Amino acid sequence: MALRVGVIGGGQLARMMIAPAVELGVELRVLAEEPGMAAALAATAVGDYHDVDTVLAFARDVDVITFDHEHVPQHVLTALEQDGAAVRPGSAALAVAQDKLVLRARMAELRVPQPEWAAVSDATELQRFIDEHGGRAVVKTPRGGYDGKGVRVVTAATEAADWFTALNEDARGGMLLVEELVQFRRELAQQVARRPSGETRVYPLAETVQRGGVCAEAIAPAPGATEQLVRAAADLGVLIAEALGVTGMLAVELFETGDGRILVNELAMRPHNSGHWSQDGAVTGQFEQHLRAVLDLPLGDTAATQPWAAMVNILGGPTEGSMDARIGPAMAGHPHAKIHTYGKAPRPGRKVGHVNVAGDDLDDVVYEARAAASVFLD
Ligand code: ADP
Repeated sequence: MALRVGVIGGGQLARMMIAPAVELGVELRVLAEEPGMAAALAATAVGDYHDVDTVLAFARDVDVITFDHEHVPQHVLTALEQDGAAVRPGSAALAVAQDKLVLRARMAELRVPQPEWAAVSDATELQRFIDEHGGRAVVKTPRGGYDGKGVRVVTAATEAADWFTALNEDARGGMLLVEELVQFRRELAQQVARRPSGETRVYPLAETVQRGGVCAEAIAPAPGATEQLVRAAADLGVLIAEALGVTGMLAVELFETGDGRILVNELAMRPHNSGHWSQDGAVTGQFEQHLRAVLDLPLGDTAATQPWAAMVNILGGPTEGSMDARIGPAMAGHPHAKIHTYGKAPRPGRKVGHVNVAGDDLDDVVYEARAAASVFLD
């Protein structure tokens, strides 16, 4: 019988596991939040991932459980583990990716370089941190943020007053995370795959560009990266994957400072937008690798197949008509581009697809990927 992987969450990351699953002969099942989601093609169940019974029933028909996002509550994860499910990554590792305060504390324990930070429970504490860090800081809600939601640059504690009010209204109480505003030279991402039996493989280091807190582009390998930087990022990725016991894909989002240091921003324990380039620019794409890793199968080669790969997100999509109407023109104008669409309704700023281009000239691949992605925008 085919190996069966169950994915909780029906978004584009689950969707992009479908093709490699078919190729590997792995049976992919998806527990989607609602009908008609990006991964609807493989959605064998629709239900609420907060509900223990729903998730347990889904897990009993598969060999391994993995995820499209990190929002499955800890009590559901531990219930799965107690029920004997192979949860990959497991609840202990996911706890670090689910809460930015837990992440900061754990990275500090591991002596991993990161921005200066503090946990603050009221405006006075926040203001003190801002004053001690040049009058500016980045405030983050520890849980539930994505794509820059829950991240705010502030110059005064009053600018986070609504978040403190929400904390006070929450019976569980809690704290906000505050970080120094890092004057980074650029952002980088290190992808690492790790399987339960311990094998790890690192991908080429990628450079990412965020606009308004949302990933817009990625280039691999990161242009101009020194051997020392590449090694430091790879070592850091493996250290984190091993120390936290991550299984599957791990993305380590990094800031590169002007003086060549790297600081950990955040972690994602699943295929990540910063690794999409690998679908068409590496021997083993991150979605195939994630399946191999969570199934504890031998990992594939992570080497780049071309000197350069560029990934450009399609953010928003056409305001008139459908994405489908643009595919023909995009293909006709850009035969070298690999177009990935997510089957999602276009909305301003929404990730509805991306384009990968790999080749031997950096400027060409970036230009081509941007041009092909722009065909889908107005
Ligand atoms: P999310 O969980 O929404 O992805 P992140 O914590 O990754 O949020 O922050 C989103 C973006 O905000 C980052 O990619 C970076 O561009 C910027 N950012 C976050 N933290 C800092 C910081 N301490 N200093 C400077 N910029 C930051």
